[in-house]
Amino acid sequence: MKLLWITLALPFFVFASCKQTMVETLPEITVYKNNATYTAVDSGKTNYEITKTDEEWRKELSPEQYQVLRNKGTERPHTGEYDEHFEKGYYICAACSTKLFSSNTKFDAHCGWPSFFAPEDSAAIEYVIDYAHGMVRTEVLCAKCGGHLGHVFDDGPNPTGQRYCINSVSLGFVKEGSAPDSLKNNNGK
Ligand code: FE
Repeated sequence: MKLLWITLALPFFVFASCKQTMVETLPEITVYKNNATYTAVDSGKTNYEITKTDEEWRKELSPEQYQVLRNKGTERPHTGEYDEHFEKGYYICAACSTKLFSSNTKFDAHCGWPSFFAPEDSAAIEYVIDYAHGMVRTEVLCAKCGGHLGHVFDDGPNPTGQRYCINSVSLGFVKEGSAPDSLKNNNGK
């Protein structure tokens, strides 16, 4: 009888143990779900308006751009062209020239990467929960081509409280007053 009790009770304790682990990880996820921006998280998107083969991306992008935009790499802090750049204008995706951020939302976060408190158009950005490197972060991608831009954090300034931490190499810049046909990425293509 004692053996039977142990046999019946064992799966319950195993389940309870797993449940405890799940509960411990839930608060962080809940914070994400309560955030107005992160409720737009779409981790299932696979088809982008601009889709190219890996070979085509390698041809069009510089090695640094390819490593960040297509391989989700990160440029070294304080090395990017737009980290300390505060000219008036707007920032575009280096891969597909989509307008992403305005200089009006750029601020100096002293973190080593260009930082913005909001995107120019929320539809231009895709959000994906990123579990890489033992952390839970929200990855920011170009919604048109799927290029990796960086991450967004909840430690930004007013009015949004958000910090879009973006790789310079993922961006191009269009100076205020420039004609739209002057759009080009960092690679000059
Ligand atoms: Fe893009």
